[in-house]
Amino acid sequence: MKLREYEAKKILQEAGIPVPAGFLIKTADELSAHLDVLGDAIVLKAQVDVGGRGKAGGILMADKKNAVATARELFAKQIKGLTVREILAEQRLVIQKEYYLSITVDRSAKQPLLLFSDAGGVEIENTVQENPDAIRKAVALPLMLDLPPFMLRELAGKAPKEVMPVINKLYRVFLDKDALLAEINPLVITPQGVFAADAKIIVDDNALARQGITVNRDLSEREREAEKNGFSYVELGGNIGVIGNGAGLTMSTLDLIEYYGGKAANFLDVGGGAESDRVKNAVQLVARVPSVRVIVVNLLGGITRCDEVAKGIIAAGISQKVIVRLAGTNEAEGRSMLAEKGYEMLDTMDLVVKKAVEVAA
Ligand code: GDP
Ligand code: MG
Repeated sequence: MKLREYEAKKILQEAGIPVPAGFLIKTADELSAHLDVLGDAIVLKAQVDVGGRGKAGGILMADKKNAVATARELFAKQIKGLTVREILAEQRLVIQKEYYLSITVDRSAKQPLLLFSDAGGVEIENTVQENPDAIRKAVALPLMLDLPPFMLRELAGKAPKEVMPVINKLYRVFLDKDALLAEINPLVITPQGVFAADAKIIVDDNALARQGITVNRDLSEREREAEKNGFSYVELGGNIGVIGNGAGLTMSTLDLIEYYGGKAANFLDVGGGAESDRVKNAVQLVARVPSVRVIVVNLLGGITRCDEVAKGIIAAGISQKVIVRLAGTNEAEGRSMLAEKGYEMLDTMDLVVKKAVEVAA
């Protein structure tokens, strides 16, 4: 789950990395109470989950006199289609130099990967494309809670000495917070020293409980419900709902949809031994995806019994068309139950998918 800038900055501050003084506000008027602390040079930062927020107009400079009005202006904006609900109001930094510092997981080395560049700021993506040498890399050593000094020196290069402890502190944050990403871009040098001007932390979804995070904000309401039911579920944006059992069968259903020119709305694997209630929940969940016109149910009876599946599909009672392919244990019972209610059944995966693509079109 992605933390917002103000949440990430709080963590950095606790770890001893300097961050500018700031306040989170939910209305423009709340800002008045903080103006004395913020002083005359203020920066207002929309707390929206998009990359390139600054370039998209999500950061406004203000002074004490126009701060409330400027906050009002920012609250009224849409940043890449997102409403601004929270603003982080900070003391504006006097930036002399911007660096880029990022820690992710190197999946082949199975270790944290550190990146540092003297060309930090909003153009970092272009730098990566045009001048990859401007980014220095290092892979952390196993089981080390601190980075060795030589590594810090190599990463920091000619940057001021005070940058090195920041790299090590961010590395500790990365470990402590079970992060998949910990990034400071830009890490800035000011007349008052080094500061994290921006911060991004992504916590590994598998570690949310350990990190005391009870609700995964990055999941849609439907994804959360799928998680509760124990379904593997991903939304894909098309109009053909997909329900299968087993990741392999479900994935090949998606492949076939693509092959026949359709577009899947989702991936849903109900898992093995699906009882009628689980099937019902799955069908209802997929039917609630607004774009879904037709649902393909492609289930293979093994431990799963086809009559249970049929019961679940019927009980779901949804308005969209359901096209079913059932094979295996208790197939005959399942099929006759569905036939009685007028559901369309086809013998092979190929046929159901072809049909679904036609219906969706
Ligand atoms: P992002 O666009 O979401 O990455 O937002 P950042 O917080 O990284 O800010 C984008 C850019 O705005 C930075 O690279 C800075 O150039 C500028 N900026 C952000 N905060 C400050 C500040 O306190 N003072 C000054 N002078 N510029 C800032
Ligand atoms: Mg940034």
